Amino acid sequence: MRELVLAPHIHTSASDDSDWDLERLCRWLGRSGFDGALVCDHDRTMNPARWQALQALCDAVGDRRSFLVVPGVEYQAPDHVVHIPVYGYGRFHGRSPDIDELLLAAAGTGAAVFAHPARRDAWRQFNPAWAPQLVGIEVWNRKYDGVSPNSWALGATREHEIPPLAALDWHGPRQLFPLALRVADPGPGRNRARAGAVVAALRAREVRATAFGGRIESYETGALATISQRLERIRRWGAPRLRQLEDALRRLP
Ligand SMILES: [Zn+2]
Ligand SMILES: [Zn+2]
Repeated sequence: MRELVLAPHIHTSASDDSDWDLERLCRWLGRSGFDGALVCDHDRTMNPARWQALQALCDAVGDRRSFLVVPGVEYQAPDHVVHIPVYGYGRFHGRSPDIDELLLAAAGTGAAVFAHPARRDAWRQFNPAWAPQLVGIEVWNRKYDGVSPNSWALGATREHEIPPLAALDWHGPRQLFPLALRVADPGPGRNRARAGAVVAALRAREVRATAFGGRIESYETGALATISQRLERIRRWGAPRLRQLEDALRRLP
């Protein structure tokens, strides 16, 4: 059976911190080897009308480009620490909702994910009672974990029996990385039906997270873990210096 390679956790220009319109995003991600994307724009820039418009845009662009686009909203808790992307065509649950209430409300139709545990130590607020309502934990978020997965998250997925997921957390090309979700191709059809099938697969926990094409769990121990952790240490050392150099070059007359 053919598998689709999907780019997870993609912010479009419907978010206040991304200026990538969906058309351009799909072109970029398609050229980078992805068959589709899971969009999640911030709740703080959303309202019911904008959410309807985003869903319609995802379907229109998905149909036109034959690139599967799943719409979603990234909700933030009232104190903004915990973020929960919810994928699927459910209703808009309001800005900065209570997370317990959000997960219960989204449980019927959406696919809710515990995002980037490393950001502002969100992992400290993880509540094991959420486990049955979550379709996954982002164990490797490119924006916040860099080039190595989050060890707390990998442990939590096993302890609480929640699937490990990957996320680009795309705001621009800096987050382009071979992290993906792989899912059985639902076959030909309209974007809305195909995206609905992907949400159903997420909810049935039939989605596989990969890094460089291999299972994401294989980065927890052994050679891959050692290499990726070393690379991440080098990246953390080098990235600020590289940015300083870029800024200095920009200031040159
Ligand atoms: Zn977030
Ligand atoms: Zn995000």
